[in-house]
Amino acid sequence: MAIHESEAIVLKIFDYGESDKIITFLTEDFGKIIAIAKGAKRSKIRFVRKLELFTKLHIRFADNKHSDLVRIDEAELLAPFPTLSHDYERFLCANLVCELLINWATGDKDRNLYNLAAWTLTNIALHNPLSSLLLFQLHLLTILGFHLHLSSCTMCDTPMQQGGTFLFIAESNGIICRKCLAKQREKPHVIPLSIGSLKLLEKAREIDPDKWSRFHFSKQSLKEVSFLFKFHNHYLLQRDIISWRHLEDHLREISKI
Ligand SMILES: [Zn+2]
Repeated sequence: MAIHESEAIVLKIFDYGESDKIITFLTEDFGKIIAIAKGAKRSKIRFVRKLELFTKLHIRFADNKHSDLVRIDEAELLAPFPTLSHDYERFLCANLVCELLINWATGDKDRNLYNLAAWTLTNIALHNPLSSLLLFQLHLLTILGFHLHLSSCTMCDTPMQQGGTFLFIAESNGIICRKCLAKQREKPHVIPLSIGSLKLLEKAREIDPDKWSRFHFSKQSLKEVSFLFKFHNHYLLQRDIISWRHLEDHLREISKI
């Protein structure tokens, strides 16, 4: 049995049996891991306020060649992000980030992905949660190798800055103009996207995570871009992300979208 250490973020946690907990972590050095914390429900000292959703920890764990489940032995709290659990909108945004990471992260080390996750949770906890969530998804797609082509039509290269109507086409991972869309033989997966939202996304891509707090999406762009990411993740993953539904219900209730 080998012992490892890494910084890690709790993506998911549930009780297992009478005294254990099962935790999905995104780690800085080992990608996504699933761990069992033996006796975590009973031991008030070893893991108290540490093994909780969204916390950033330094963990020590043992892996076993015969199982995908590692055993977590120690956890030191680095950042608790208390507002993520106490503010409903922040909670919903952080929950969606975690669900996307559970679906996309692998067991391979990916520092860019880990840093993006840590930055995002910090921004959601302290600044505008919805803008941070959209910025996260934009960068997530780039890290995963799905860099969105938004500056010109992916078929004829007509620049978006020239104006006109463009749509996002999932098959091409970018935008398509109306003329090229009309020429498609099979009906592609497309959604409308205004020039305003496209320009905003282009700008958002250049923003350093330290300056995310200064970036805001208008109501119209928030709606369009949220739908774009939901639509594209569904196309790429071929499954629904449940947390989208909870967030959309909440935003509709408070008339934010
Ligand atoms: Zn075109």
